Amino acid sequence: MTGSSTEESRQVAAAAALVRLGSWLTERGLKHSRQRDVIVETFFGMGGHVPVDGLVARVRALDARVSVATVYRTMKLLAECGIAVPRRFDDGQTRYEPASGRAHHDHLICTGCGRIVEFENEKIEELQIRVAHGQGFEVDSHKLELYGRCERCRRGDAGSKDARP
Ligand SMILES: [Zn+2]
Ligand SMILES: [Zn+2]
Repeated sequence: MTGSSTEESRQVAAAAALVRLGSWLTERGLKHSRQRDVIVETFFGMGGHVPVDGLVARVRALDARVSVATVYRTMKLLAECGIAVPRRFDDGQTRYEPASGRAHHDHLICTGCGRIVEFENEKIEELQIRVAHGQGFEVDSHKLELYGRCERCRRGDAGSKDARP
């Protein structure tokens, strides 16, 4: 079953993130908090590109004492110490994805069901750099987002609205 190994790798990633966050906080003389740990574990458990409000709902179902502001603050902290990367696609929601050990990638976003697919293409990467060079630019970073409808939505599958990642 691939499901259990995914689950396992998410737990490993969460544990590694907690260690990293812990030392990052210690270096700065900041306190650890159990609430923050719950947020980090929940975030990694959800996998993929997690909308902050979705994370808030999940965390508060586990522990209603965690405030919305704490979740937002914690995710900003994770971005600051390089554990998570914030993403903002056309729907205006802030999403976070785990950063640790991952290469650069771009995104395909389904405007029908909200599905987000990651891709990497060496030719596209090279071409972008070449285009920039042609204009005298040196590229530091880029984000490529392709919007459209996924295979499921194009087939008109019922229930695809529930298939959000
Ligand atoms: Zn779709
Ligand atoms: Zn991604």
